[in-house]
Parts: sequence; structure tokens; C-alpha cells
Amino acid sequence: MARKPLVAANWKMHGDRAFGEALARETVASCDDAGVDVVICPPICYLTLVAGPLSGSGCALGAQDLSPVVESGAHTGDINGAMLIDCGASHVIVGHSERRATRGEDNEAVAAKFLAAQQAGLTPILCVGETLAERDGERTEAVLEAQLDAVVAAAGIAAFSRAVIAYEPVWAIGTGRTASPDQAQAAHAALRATLARDDARIADSVRIVYGGSVKPDNAASLFAQPDVDGGLIGGASLKAADFAAIVHAAGGHS
Ligand code: PEP
Repeated sequence: MARKPLVAANWKMHGDRAFGEALARETVASCDDAGVDVVICPPICYLTLVAGPLSGSGCALGAQDLSPVVESGAHTGDINGAMLIDCGASHVIVGHSERRATRGEDNEAVAAKFLAAQQAGLTPILCVGETLAERDGERTEAVLEAQLDAVVAAAGIAAFSRAVIAYEPVWAIGTGRTASPDQAQAAHAALRATLARDDARIADSVRIVYGGSVKPDNAASLFAQPDVDGGLIGGASLKAADFAAIVHAAGGHS
């Protein structure tokens, strides 16, 4: 099946109002015509600010996290999916390794966020990936399978027709160390095979993007892999020209 490429920008905790607004404008101007689904995920406090330049463009707005609680209520500091939609978001990252590592989000907690995102009408971008110790211990596939299985158990396999998976080896995020195209392809194929046990059609249609030190000079070789459908981009998304080069590399493989 032909899957339309998707490239998402994870700005993490960077920038200020002026930086975010300018970057959003430059990103829209340079990415809108690439034939790629582009999602911009700014820090939460800049969501409505970034929604301005994105409106009417082909670029979608995403958040970096959400509360697993669906109903509004007494949850100080939390933000639920309905609020994100109200601010113009259509996507949300769940299970980023930085949150798994520093906020103690285990597979079940991530699955609850995935479910809450979909219940609100958002498309979750589910991050999965192994640590270096897990890779060295030849546990990559088992780790990925457990991360996916928890979400399938909570949300059901059909939920993956309204989701994106991001394979992000933890050892490659922000380190400058990228998975080789072969390593990325092997992991993406393993993820698809895990889903295919439950539903071959959904496994074939779900977009699995790669994240981990994607840069303009390595993007094309990663995106040329048959099971790599685009990227989740951290550091390189903070420079509009670099991000645009990555988006256009994905477009070249659509
Ligand atoms: C990320 O934060 O999801 C990411 C992939 O970061 P970087 O591109 O900087 O490795």
C-alpha cells in the first residue's frame, strides 16, 4: 500500500513567542508544497500562537503531551485532549522517551494517553523505541512488541487506523547518532509484523515514522526504506531550512 509520508516537528521546550511565530511562518512557507503531511508540535503555551500561521495551510498542529484524563475536573496543571482540540491541535505525541524516562510513564500510562487522545478526536503519534542496553542485549524487538501490545490491549487494533507510530531508538535521540537505514527498516518491519498478527490491513496502512537525529544529510536514505514513512524531528526542526529539506526528502519518496 502507498502511504503518504508524514513528518512531524517536535520543538520540545525551546524558544519564545517571537521565535515560535517566526519559525511557524517560515516552516509553512517552505513545507506546504512538499506532498507530505506536516505536523508542528510546539511547547503547549505556544499552541494558539502557532495555530495562527498554520491556519489555512497544509501543516497541522500537534501537542507534545496530554493528560490521560478525558473529563474536565480538578487536575491542576493538566491539559486534556478536548482543550488541545479547542486550541487547534489535531495530533498529539504520546510516549516520548523523554517522558517515559523522566516522568515514569510506563507502557500502560502511555496506552491510557493514546486512548484519551483518540477519545478526544486527536491523532496520537505513539513513540516507541529501545535503549542502548536493550539493543545491545538483543531485546529490541521484544521491547517494541511490549510497547505496542500495551496500546493494542487498551485501545484495540482498529485504533491504529487513526494513529501514527514513531520508532525512536532512545540512543539516537538528540545524540547525533542515527540508526542506519537498515536498522530503522528492520525495526519498522518488526513493528508492522507485530500489528499484522492482529490485522494485516491495518499493519500495512499505518504510518511508521523514524525519529532520532534525522538531519538533511541522512533523511533521504532513511526515508528510502520501504517501511519508513517519514520522520519525527527534534533538533533539526528548530531551523526552518533544515526541517524543510527533511520534509522535501520525505516528499521525494512518496
Ligand atoms: C525527538 O525529540 O523526538 C527527536 C527525534 O529528537 P532529535 O531529532 O533531536 O534526535
